[in-house]
Amino acid sequence: MTQPTLNDIVALAKRRGFVFPGSEIYGGLANTYDFGPLGVELLRNITNHWWHYFVTKRADMFGLDSSILMSHKVWEASGHTASFTDALVDCKTCHTRTRADHLIEDTAEKQGKTIRVEGQNVEELSKLIEELNIACPNCGAHNWTDPREFNLLFETHIGIVEESQSLAYLRGEIAQGMFVNFKNVLNTMRPKLPFGIAQTGKAFRNEITLGNFIFRTLEFNLAEFEYFFDPNEQNWEELFEFWKQAMQEFAEELGLSKNKLNWRLHTDEERAHYSTRTEDLDYQFPFGSKELFGLAYRTDFDLKNHMEKSGVDLHYTDPQNPQHKFIPHVVEPTFGINRIFLALLLEAYRSDENRTWLALPANLAPFKVAVFPLVKNKPELVTKAKAVFDQLSKTRAVVWDDRGNIGKRYLAQDEIGTPYCITIDYQTLEDDTVTLRDRDTTKQERFKLTELEQQLANMLI
Ligand SMILES: [Zn+2]
Repeated sequence: MTQPTLNDIVALAKRRGFVFPGSEIYGGLANTYDFGPLGVELLRNITNHWWHYFVTKRADMFGLDSSILMSHKVWEASGHTASFTDALVDCKTCHTRTRADHLIEDTAEKQGKTIRVEGQNVEELSKLIEELNIACPNCGAHNWTDPREFNLLFETHIGIVEESQSLAYLRGEIAQGMFVNFKNVLNTMRPKLPFGIAQTGKAFRNEITLGNFIFRTLEFNLAEFEYFFDPNEQNWEELFEFWKQAMQEFAEELGLSKNKLNWRLHTDEERAHYSTRTEDLDYQFPFGSKELFGLAYRTDFDLKNHMEKSGVDLHYTDPQNPQHKFIPHVVEPTFGINRIFLALLLEAYRSDENRTWLALPANLAPFKVAVFPLVKNKPELVTKAKAVFDQLSKTRAVVWDDRGNIGKRYLAQDEIGTPYCITIDYQTLEDDTVTLRDRDTTKQERFKLTELEQQLANMLI
């Protein structure tokens, strides 16, 4: 089986309604994408599966859905207004703006050298651009501005009247919502350590991206939890290892190939300002091995800073020993939902001389079953098929199709990953049996309508 290229995935995603370029009728808005009718189903299935796996199934996890707009004070306390930056350079000839780190690393790679520049200051980056004699990838000129730091937070203003507007930021990570609600969760749920606060949602980063479809975009869906613990009771390294294992198992359960998954420890230079240890679970995308999930030990950095800046007491009191008050430490697993979406399409893509199909896991596929009347101009067939559709769609996502010939309908469902197609034909009218076709094998079997629910249940549909 040949591996699909990124272009194969982009083309299928567009053709079949998974992902569209953002603001497309106006020429597009770079690095934004819209999830179409099929994409939104897959995206929600991934998110719901994650929620069930890490939140619903666990007694020690509490859900949250915090605001995208947060007080600017949150981002000052978290250190993001000061440290959440990229160094950018402009070509003075053609005005292309680009990330200095990517420019240097990519040029070095082409020259057969390996240079990692994370953590270097703008003077050091400037020197490297000189030394490597880097030309503008757009126009070829050697005419760069000095690198400058740009903050990645999206600024916005609250209020209609200009004089009374106040500065706010779209959240640059979803973690801060969990930290600022720590006390609310403590007071309402009375959890005992260790416990987690989890949420899923969008984060926003005003960064120059390298494209690669939905891998890195200006706004993106994350799933994450903060797992709070008593550093005197629990060894952070053991907890880190526990969640690392859980993340690996989750990735494998999604159907991602084990040999494409690889853990990578962040160097001191590249680690974020809040973290003591960070490891990424990288996935082998067509454009390289890149971060899929991240795991960080954030210590008590965030709660401590919020306590200092807000003046609100964020200590946890040990219920067994009320004298023991402390700020919990936290281990944070983060999951890129859009990246899972892309990895799943890459893993599921199959193609032979006759057809293209997505071998998506049934629990994640946009639709579980398709229901077809053999032809649409025979009312008895349509009525019977409609009754099957109504019955099956009570408890699962079912799609209806009565257009064109049956072979084309099968191929269309294969391309969107629908595991099974049910056809109501003339024989159905005689003996109440239907055909059930398997997406991966294309084999068809006849079943009695009365057995259909049980058959689907056996196949976990
Ligand atoms: Zn240029």
